Amino acid sequence: MLMASAAGGYTGSGIPGAPPASAGTQRKYRLAPWTGDDYTLGHRMRAGDIPPLPRSSERRVDFVIIGGGMAGLASAYFLRDHDFLLLEQYAELGGQSRGKSYRGLDYSLGAAYMGSSDGIYGELFADLGLKPVELPDTKNSWYREGRWFPGVRGADQDILYKSFARLIAQCKPVWKLMPNGELELPVQGPDLERLDMQPFSAHLEGYDPKFVALVDSICKSSCCGTTSELSALAGFYLMQDLVSPSYVFEGGNPALARALASRIEESGRRRCLTGTFVWNVSLRSGGASVDYSTADGAMHRVECRKVIVTAPPLVTGRIIPDLDDKAKAVLLWFKYGSYLVANFCMPKKIFDGAYDNWVGSPFTFADAVVAETPYIATGSYKKMMGSVLTVYQPYSARSTGREILYEGNREELAGELIEQLSRLVEQFQNNLDEVVLTRWGHAMVVAQPGMFAKLTRLLALDTDPLLLAHNSMRGVPSAESAIQAGRLAAQRCLGIHRKTG
Ligand SMILES: Cc1cc2nc3c(=O)[nH]c(=O)nc-3n(C[C@H](O)[C@H](O)[C@H](O)COP(=O)(O)OP(=O)(O)OC[C@H]3O[C@@H](n4cnc5c(N)ncnc54)[C@H](O)[C@@H]3O)c2cc1C
Repeated sequence: MLMASAAGGYTGSGIPGAPPASAGTQRKYRLAPWTGDDYTLGHRMRAGDIPPLPRSSERRVDFVIIGGGMAGLASAYFLRDHDFLLLEQYAELGGQSRGKSYRGLDYSLGAAYMGSSDGIYGELFADLGLKPVELPDTKNSWYREGRWFPGVRGADQDILYKSFARLIAQCKPVWKLMPNGELELPVQGPDLERLDMQPFSAHLEGYDPKFVALVDSICKSSCCGTTSELSALAGFYLMQDLVSPSYVFEGGNPALARALASRIEESGRRRCLTGTFVWNVSLRSGGASVDYSTADGAMHRVECRKVIVTAPPLVTGRIIPDLDDKAKAVLLWFKYGSYLVANFCMPKKIFDGAYDNWVGSPFTFADAVVAETPYIATGSYKKMMGSVLTVYQPYSARSTGREILYEGNREELAGELIEQLSRLVEQFQNNLDEVVLTRWGHAMVVAQPGMFAKLTRLLALDTDPLLLAHNSMRGVPSAESAIQAGRLAAQRCLGIHRKTG
């Protein structure tokens, strides 16, 4: 069970570099190799060490999609009846929505849940035969002064619930300005434009600092930035998660990525090539050529009429040398946080917490998701599956996070988290079977003040034959942004295709 310590909160150092809980003792759990990002080819490209490009092309397709994360898969899904080639650098599709399995219990290495299940998302789920579980607002639980508080409303007169009531009242007029709770680009009206330019923290003056620490955790977990690093527009938008349901698949968002991949495969084989790294895109009037390497190091060129780029803006700026300086300046404006995700696999279920369990400073992680929740809700949970706790530790942009992850001391990073979790979860360390650490180097674009104005300028770059469709191009990082980005790019391809085809 989750402990409710009377002492009140985490008192360990939790500081990177501090001796881990297991230091000096024999480790009893398996520590899996790193999963997530592999920096080798990206760093080679950053250093300008680009292999000689092919002189001629071997193939021609209508559309090339760069990246096989949720946005690339969504693009391919909407183009499945057309002639496309998807190029993904890693051996597996899914990007930040990749997952693994423990004793038949699927869990995520990144994205876990969605905030929408109607409109285009509902249609997509129905077409793929997926039924997400709807979790009400008690899906969230908050740790404060040694106690867990479920949801945002409670009879308890604790300052936490009073602060939530005040924050939600403050959010409501802003939410009304967002059609269907979404932030359409370009953002509409002077009120939303003003909020885009202000830090969220400017709206949180006078709140209890421990409450603000929890709100910081929500902002960091969703956007790799604290309340003072995110814009008020992004902050108010994210706070909808406090009162709206979440939609969860067994295995998290990787279940959606897998379903998309198998539908794409059904409609035409070998159109998604994994282990293919794109080094260069040359744009010309009416088309583009895309140069990529395969796992054996060989270089290939494919010609296309349109190219959909779902790599982050930073990578997009590097692989398209033809872009002018003005365009590159916009692409390079974005800041990225990095992310450590730790999956703690246990043979026994020892938590009875909520789905998403939030802590504030001085804990170094933001929240911990109980992966078996959707299995329990659908009745498919079996005791032998045990339990997986997915712990999210985001790092702000320009913090030491990226270096810590690159250095990659798994033993130390796992130990620091175990030390902290042992203070929250009884018998945590004794029940651990396997720990899987995942690192995301440029995990998320930080929705800093001015981001939405910048995104509007970025859309102007989105011109024939180039279509930009990473999730960050459509708003705050989310599966919805990725699906929207992919869908819009596919529609643009098809619109032009119909006109000329
Ligand atoms: C830790 C974490 C937790 C998250 N949790 C949630 C959540 O619970 N809910 C939610 O909605 N969202 C969540 N997100 C946001 C998540 O980013 C989106 O949901 C979505 O999965 C992003 O999809 P994408 O395709 O835009 O980007 P990515 O998943 O980053 O996909 C881009 C793809 O492009 C490939 N690529 C890049 N460069 C090249 C190249 N040169 N050549 C070939 N391939 C290349 C990459 O390998 C990658 O597969 C989370 C993100 C992280 C990091």
